[in-house]
Amino acid sequence: MSFRHISKEALAGSITLGVVLVAGYFFGKKKSSRMSISKSHCGGKDDPLMQYVLNNSLREHPALKKLRLRTMDHSWNIMMVACEQSQLMANLAKLIKTKKAIEIGVYTGYNTLSIALALPDDGVLIACDVSEDYTDIGKPFWKEAGVEQKIDLRIQPALKTLDDLLSDGQAETFDFVFIDADKVNYDNYYEKSLQLLRKGGIIAVDNVLWGGKVLNPTPGDEDTVAIDKLNKKLHRDARINLSMLTVGDGLTLAIKL
Ligand code: CA
Repeated sequence: MSFRHISKEALAGSITLGVVLVAGYFFGKKKSSRMSISKSHCGGKDDPLMQYVLNNSLREHPALKKLRLRTMDHSWNIMMVACEQSQLMANLAKLIKTKKAIEIGVYTGYNTLSIALALPDDGVLIACDVSEDYTDIGKPFWKEAGVEQKIDLRIQPALKTLDDLLSDGQAETFDFVFIDADKVNYDNYYEKSLQLLRKGGIIAVDNVLWGGKVLNPTPGDEDTVAIDKLNKKLHRDARINLSMLTVGDGLTLAIKL
């Protein structure tokens, strides 16, 4: 069984039957399609309706498709952003005429490439990750697509990169931020990103449903507690408008007011 929408952290922490049952219960509530969508990721071979959606809407750049297939060979491929979600975010980034973007959590850089392709020639994507091993997988595909010059990859803790950007005087200059790294730092990433974002800019937060675990956050499960806490905080946050979408493993869009 594949859980490509559930992060490495969730799986590493709790790859148990319990998680499978919780996820199965959650996604199974609305027909079986939620589970199938979760399993199918890109391709939707287990779900005819999802396959139809992808067949009739997915537009992958050839290099993007190659990177997806390359990533599927990788042991942590569950961490890759769902392709339909990636396309949605690229479209949103384009819609608000994004020139400066930040990605917190790159992995093999599928979504990095997707966003970079949506940027104008003079656009820049600050890509934050701590693993050169993973990001090295994506680099040849970024180059093949001709967008490597737009990607400013910074291999160090993302909080440090965000602090560097703030002390560099770049507050309120970014259009789009995608948060998809360690969950215990989600609120820190959100607060710093909000400072870096211009009014009308978008912060997209990944894994906000956490395979359904947010329904029953248990003390000690730091990742779930952190996600649930941020979800509730964003709901009350007067600095933004928001939507919580059920695409992928849950995606919140926060629009800065
Ligand atoms: Ca994720």
